[in-house]
Amino acid sequence: PVILAIESSCDETSASVIRNGKVLNNIIASQAVHQKYGGVVPELASRAHQQNIVMVVDQAMQEAGVQSTDLDAIAFTRGPGLIGSLLVGVSFAKGMALALDIPLIEVNHMQAHVLAHFIEDPKPGFPFLCLTVSGGHTQIVKVTDPYTMEVIGQTQDDAVGEAFDKAAKIMDLPYPGGPLIDKYAQQGNPRAFRFSQTSMPGLDFSFSGIKTAFLYFLRDAVKTNPDFIKQNLADICASLQHHLVFMLLTRLEQASAQTSIKNIAIAGGVSANSGLRKSLQELGEKRGWSVFIPRFEYCTDNAAMIAMAAHFKFLKKDFCTLEVTPLARMPV
Ligand code: ATP
Ligand code: MG
Ligand code: FE
Repeated sequence: PVILAIESSCDETSASVIRNGKVLNNIIASQAVHQKYGGVVPELASRAHQQNIVMVVDQAMQEAGVQSTDLDAIAFTRGPGLIGSLLVGVSFAKGMALALDIPLIEVNHMQAHVLAHFIEDPKPGFPFLCLTVSGGHTQIVKVTDPYTMEVIGQTQDDAVGEAFDKAAKIMDLPYPGGPLIDKYAQQGNPRAFRFSQTSMPGLDFSFSGIKTAFLYFLRDAVKTNPDFIKQNLADICASLQHHLVFMLLTRLEQASAQTSIKNIAIAGGVSANSGLRKSLQELGEKRGWSVFIPRFEYCTDNAAMIAMAAHFKFLKKDFCTLEVTPLARMPV
């Protein structure tokens, strides 16, 4: 089957064509408009999706050498995400499916982040654990097969990507700050500073405590030395990143021990973090895990992962009707 997939859950407009399970391309238009506001502005995101979607879909179809009459289905992200952003993709997909009289496939964005691992080799064997870490989510998912996933641990407050971005904002770094903290951390000493953290029961996470501790730490430090942040930027970033990565990997280690699963994957935007990648590789070697880390392009929001998820659904003829509506919240 040939499927066109559309992703528009947040601030990336993306389209991808998949043929017989092989992703042919992954076109992504990012929205620069949010940078000056220090975060995604939903109304602007939705408007930018409207401006970009025709161009992005056209490019994906053209690059793949696919005509609309070649398509067997249209897939789209149903949720979770910003409702105005999702609406653009959902409406566009519905219109195309209706016009071409072909099936429509709804995809769960968080399941798609996990299934991004099946775009390229090496692919994880089942069952595997996937630590999904993004701007809106932090969860450990037990994946039994492409259709059976269970969240066994998740954040009770902020997502880890949010913790990165809010910490960056406190230091006056532009949005999204996660990649910048990663960049500066590479020159710094991860043991220079310590921040207190709250711990959650079981396999759950909490990141609001460390964010507050970080804020107070810097506020006090700046009182005695106004240039503290500028002078210690690399060490601050390295220490914070070290802490966040440690919190993630501690839980992952517990999850692996509890489930006896040694196939370990990471997904979502924060899995682009070089500190997380490196520490996970090291921990994996120590524990005898098979570790799976997707290519950067498939970590952050992209339509290739939506296409991959749609391919699995197509095999089961799991289609939806034209009455389908987007969902801001949508459990795995
Ligand atoms: P969700 O998937 O939960 O709906 P989202 O779509 O906003 O949220 P992604 O696009 O998957 O999330 O990821 C974006 C997040 O990843 C941002 O918080 C960003 O700061 C973070 N991020 C990206 N690269 C890095 C990096 N190298 N280090 C740390 N964080 C990063
Ligand atoms: Mg994004
Ligand atoms: Fe995402």
